[in-house]
Amino acid sequence: MSDVRNVIIIGSGPAGYTAAVYAARADLRPLVFEGSVTAGGALMNTTDVENFPGFPDGIMGPDLMDNFRKQAERFGAELVADDVVEVDLEADPKVVKTYTDTYLAKSVIIATGSRYRELGLENEKRLSGRGVSWCATCDGFFFRDQEIVVVGGGDTAMEEAIFLTRFARTVTVIHRRDTLRASKIMQDRAFANDKIRFVWDSEVVDVLGEDRISGVRVRNLKTGEETDLPVGGLFIAIGHEPRTELLKGQIDLDDEGYVLVQSPTTRTNLDGVFAAGDVVDHIYRQAITASGTGCAAALDAERWLTLNA
Ligand code: FAD
Repeated sequence: MSDVRNVIIIGSGPAGYTAAVYAARADLRPLVFEGSVTAGGALMNTTDVENFPGFPDGIMGPDLMDNFRKQAERFGAELVADDVVEVDLEADPKVVKTYTDTYLAKSVIIATGSRYRELGLENEKRLSGRGVSWCATCDGFFFRDQEIVVVGGGDTAMEEAIFLTRFARTVTVIHRRDTLRASKIMQDRAFANDKIRFVWDSEVVDVLGEDRISGVRVRNLKTGEETDLPVGGLFIAIGHEPRTELLKGQIDLDDEGYVLVQSPTTRTNLDGVFAAGDVVDHIYRQAITASGTGCAAALDAERWLTLNA
């Protein structure tokens, strides 16, 4: 059992590290749990990041996260490459446990992010950032004049497909059923766009290519027939899952499992507990917005500590 810390930050993506920079510069000596396998967050899985301001020539995702990390360390944030496996956020002080240790804190910032649902194919992982993407806003620009496939049938898939028509030659939506889940208005927009075509009752069963994607193998679920489609990009839009397993039963979550905060602050329903980044946000999901709310969470925690500690 340790001393009572001012603030513990759970998560090491743009939100967690930004909160760490601000909390460390406010002399709160934050303790940051980075996770044992995925320290650095979602951008560790990508190549070029061209839309994070301050890098006019772009920067590789892992390099950007390494910079974040160094900046947090420079001001005295204590970083622990371990997973938090249990929390008691209603206790005073709050309790945060890893497999081996128990830590106490006056306040906690949750910045555990969300995971994109994957198709579960071996080559999908291998070609991630090499033509396989989960974010049209992030990567669409790289796919000028390409043939692109979007997998999914919900609003996000339609939004991604429509956005991608700005760059792509054609966008093919592949969907498991013969009707879309997307709202009527999104369906109408997608059907009216002459760059978008649909392949129904089908799924992607393999991603082809050596160093970059060159195509996808598509199986018709009714006939079993398989066809190879040459493409320059594959966007997977089958949903996201916020990493909130730890918090269930303790903190208010919305219907999709994201942490509810008292916008525009990062306060949750629990006193002294704040949340930032993609674990809260199912609208913007960008590194810069995660950083922005990470900053806000540190400032909210600092003010809360001044008034309550
Ligand atoms: P994450 O980055 O998801 O970080 C959360 C961290 O918390 C992870 O390191 C995780 O291991 C850790 N964690 C979770 N649970 C625990 C626990 N129990 N204990 C300890 N640690 C834990 N955005 C852009 O702005 N530009 C881009 O070009 C761009 N490209 C992208 C490309 C890809 C392939 C992906 C997947 C995303 C991309 N994004 C991009 C989106 C961006 O990465 C996210 O919006 C951003 O990383 C969210 O930051 P976050 O800090 O909220 O969460």
